[in-house]
Amino acid sequence: VEEMILRSEKLALIGELAAGVAHEIRNPLTSLRGYTEFLKDETSEEEKQQYFDILLDEIERIDFIVSEFMLLAKPKVLKFNSKNINAVLTQTITFLKTEAKFKKVSIHTDLELDELIVQCDENQLKQVFLNLIKNAIEAMPNGGELTIRSKRKDNYVVIEFQDQGVGIPKEKLEKLGEPFFSTKESGNGLGLMVCFKIVADHKGTVKVESEVNVGTKFIIELPLSKS
Ligand code: ADP
Ligand code: MG
Repeated sequence: VEEMILRSEKLALIGELAAGVAHEIRNPLTSLRGYTEFLKDETSEEEKQQYFDILLDEIERIDFIVSEFMLLAKPKVLKFNSKNINAVLTQTITFLKTEAKFKKVSIHTDLELDELIVQCDENQLKQVFLNLIKNAIEAMPNGGELTIRSKRKDNYVVIEFQDQGVGIPKEKLEKLGEPFFSTKESGNGLGLMVCFKIVADHKGTVKVESEVNVGTKFIIELPLSKS
């Protein structure tokens, strides 16, 4: 009996996922069809260029959704190496500095002085930090401060991303990380799902604290390297 329950639950989950993916892919497909029809009609050279750009954007969108899901379906073989977590953080922050400044967000860092060595796939962790920083920036449409901390706690490193953004109401907290859960007009709701998956692959945890109109804090804990 138990096995039956498990299987039907899994099937429901697969159904939900499949419906989500299908829905998300149908939108760009609809627009691909529409603009391809336009291209068949008489259109000026200028319009054609516009339409081609839109076609390319929509193809990119489908490609993005598919590749994010490939990550779940067939996980990349992670390449674990010893890395100083502060270096990984700093590199990600540098990468996003210009975008943050443009959006009037100032990034403050308060990083542990000691070296914190984690066995990790550096590029995957950068993806996590990137998604969290982007979300923080997007949560502060009028600008604000993003504070990023790292500190040691026993055999773990704790990394915090604290923003002064719109916050997340309590009833939405449990939806975080569900595929396609997004409150943004142009969001895809895949960022946090990917973050949770990568952190879990590193035997870590993600926690979130939030207060509406005050801000949100994402807290990541990763095991420190034993050697
Ligand atoms: P997306 O950014 O495409 O919407 P994510 O998976 O990255 O998808 O985030 C899902 C949702 O979680 C967002 O749409 C937003 O509602 C909420 N969220 C995530 N991070 C924050 C944050 N720092 N502040 C407020 N809301 C957030
Ligand atoms: Mg996001």
